[in-house]
Amino acid sequence: MKLIIAKSAGFCFGVKRAIDMALDAVKKYPKDLYTLGPLIHNPQAVEFLEELGVKARDRIEHIPGGTVIFRSHGVSLKDLRKAKEKRLRIIDATCPIVKRAQLHAKYLHQHGYALLIVGEAQHPEVEAIRSYIQEGVDVVEGVKAVQRLGPWAKLGIIAQTTQSFSLFKEVVAVCLEKAKELKVFNTICHATTIRQMEAVEIARKVDCVIVIGGYNSGNTQRLAAICRDIQPHTYHIETAEEIHPRWLAKRERIGVTAGASTPSWVIKEVERKVRRLKGLRG
Ligand code: SF4
Repeated sequence: MKLIIAKSAGFCFGVKRAIDMALDAVKKYPKDLYTLGPLIHNPQAVEFLEELGVKARDRIEHIPGGTVIFRSHGVSLKDLRKAKEKRLRIIDATCPIVKRAQLHAKYLHQHGYALLIVGEAQHPEVEAIRSYIQEGVDVVEGVKAVQRLGPWAKLGIIAQTTQSFSLFKEVVAVCLEKAKELKVFNTICHATTIRQMEAVEIARKVDCVIVIGGYNSGNTQRLAAICRDIQPHTYHIETAEEIHPRWLAKRERIGVTAGASTPSWVIKEVERKVRRLKGLRG
């Protein structure tokens, strides 16, 4: 029996930075401390912050005053303006890698390129990027959608930072045939690429994969999809309690990975439960 835990499982640099900034804010501004939307896409971590007094609110209008933390996904221009108008103290935890994607989008727009974002239209990171470019932005989640678009004289492409690299390449390949001039910025975060590559490696070696992370976490969902393509016995869970002994009964090699917003304590609990069920020493 073998248990392989991905080295890249758990908090990425941007999420860790956002959590550290929130913990720091708890000490400095404990009264009226809010995040615009859940700080990260993980209910367990959000609950932990809530216990410390960090309240998540979906809209600026629902924040009566005090301090607002913008999460690692970034913030839309509209919300930034509203927060300033309300004179809220702003702590901007936008991940520097997300900021870089925003800058690339602005550059392309200012230089006359139509902008194509490979990502999820409803994701807060994509919504924030779009908000800085008033018009002429298309968002695609797959190759089929891009086939319906174009042709373009000048097209610029970026990706949501947690997109799958192989999908990004496929979209770029299709666009090569549809744009006279094409400029591509690979804005996929390196940590995401490493995490996905390691997940592929692990999924090939095992007969069951457990992917841990919020059901609302796009990067965890993609990780699970990547693993499932290789190993059909792939299970996406949020907490250890969800592991069903039946899943592991006949499995001899079990792999575990986790999304960028999964706390290490949740990963540890999963590891302990798998070890217990398989009679392995911890
Ligand atoms: S996944 Fe990458 S881009 Fe997104 S928050 Fe983490 S480090 Fe930043």
